[in-house]
Amino acid sequence: MADSKTKKRCSFCGRSENEVGFLITGMNGYICDSCATQAYEITQEALGESKKSAGATKLNLKELPKPVEIKKFLDQYVIGQDDAKRFLSVSVYNHYKRLLQKDSGDDVEIEKSNIIMVGSTGTGKTLLARTIAKLLHVPFTIVDATVLTEAGYVGEDIESILTRLLQVADYNVPEAEQGIVFIDEIDKIARKGDNPSITRDVSGEGVQQGLLKLLEGSVVNVPPQGGRKHPDQKMIPVNTKNILFICGGAFDGIEKKIAQRLNTHVVGYTASQKTATVDRNNMMQYIAPQDLKSFGLIPEIIGRLPVLTYLNPLDRDALRAILTEPKNSIIKQYIKLFEMDGIKLTFEKSVFEYIVDKAVEYKLGARGLRSIVETIMMDVMFEIPSENKKTYEVTLEYAKSQLEKANMARLQTA
Ligand code: ADP
Repeated sequence: MADSKTKKRCSFCGRSENEVGFLITGMNGYICDSCATQAYEITQEALGESKKSAGATKLNLKELPKPVEIKKFLDQYVIGQDDAKRFLSVSVYNHYKRLLQKDSGDDVEIEKSNIIMVGSTGTGKTLLARTIAKLLHVPFTIVDATVLTEAGYVGEDIESILTRLLQVADYNVPEAEQGIVFIDEIDKIARKGDNPSITRDVSGEGVQQGLLKLLEGSVVNVPPQGGRKHPDQKMIPVNTKNILFICGGAFDGIEKKIAQRLNTHVVGYTASQKTATVDRNNMMQYIAPQDLKSFGLIPEIIGRLPVLTYLNPLDRDALRAILTEPKNSIIKQYIKLFEMDGIKLTFEKSVFEYIVDKAVEYKLGARGLRSIVETIMMDVMFEIPSENKKTYEVTLEYAKSQLEKANMARLQTA
């Protein structure tokens, strides 16, 4: 009897010292290892719940960056593309205003203006979206439309778009509900023919219909871990009413549709004057919603993407600027890499012109600049950290020899 009184016991489960792994001693009692573990789990769960219901961060109009400031910020990282920058800056600013207005309780409801950006691949659509994300204080994610399929088919359900947003918001639902989603390659879910097909179009129209639900604003059940819906998985309801969607796509061949439309609409004397001013080299700037329809986006989707903007193709001057001017330009990145080894890296000016020439010659665009610089620098980067040099200059002669040595065919397919 006396023995059971003197024996140390867990104050939570009552088990004695020899029935548990070990006991932790407190001021007036003990806790065993398994109760401690359970207590930890309970606290974690409770903390997680309180995070979920913590609500969204309160925004303040005075602290928000104004459109001019947003554009200035974009200018530091993205060359050119002024129109797209202006549209994006205004839309993002208005998005914030909508979020603020939500609390004001008056009758005028500002509707959201989802955005669609059209421009050839490698002209800076994703870069714009990423750069905006740096400035924002709302959750932001980039998803690729090509992986999406209609529910029930191989691929990802449309709802998985919101899973990503939830993840970046740390599963804080109210926070995610005021986030921004960039949907890349939206053109890849266009209907293949202009005529609605009788057979089902798994990767096209069905996906557009699914996407419509998100763009319009509705409560969507989101699988917290993504992937396919699973009957046992606990879904999280997310309201997309205040989520801003920015879509981007190359819409290859859309110039033809624009040209066709311009030609068919242009009749008569005043019209022929107008045609004279059409810049045939950059048809993209005349893009209108009906061109997206001819390309195969359903009218409902187009209606839900009221802000339509375009990106210019990158010319020689733009490529030259991209190489050195942005805050984290490719060349600045290399200078930094060398600096970390205590080496001051410089380039002969003519090297830049040469790199741009090659990018133009091989039709590699902005994406190609990096692979060309990489090819030129590979040998130096291999050897120089082991040498005892303090400076290194890349000469035109060296750049040429390196590129010629490398298999240019490899670059061309890059
Ligand atoms: P896409 O239009 O296909 O989304 P990206 O934004 O991914 O093109 O551009 C690819 C790369 O090319 C970027 O990471 C960036 O280095 C460079 N780039 C493209 N356009 C620009 C630009 N306007 N200004 C600066 N860099 C650019």
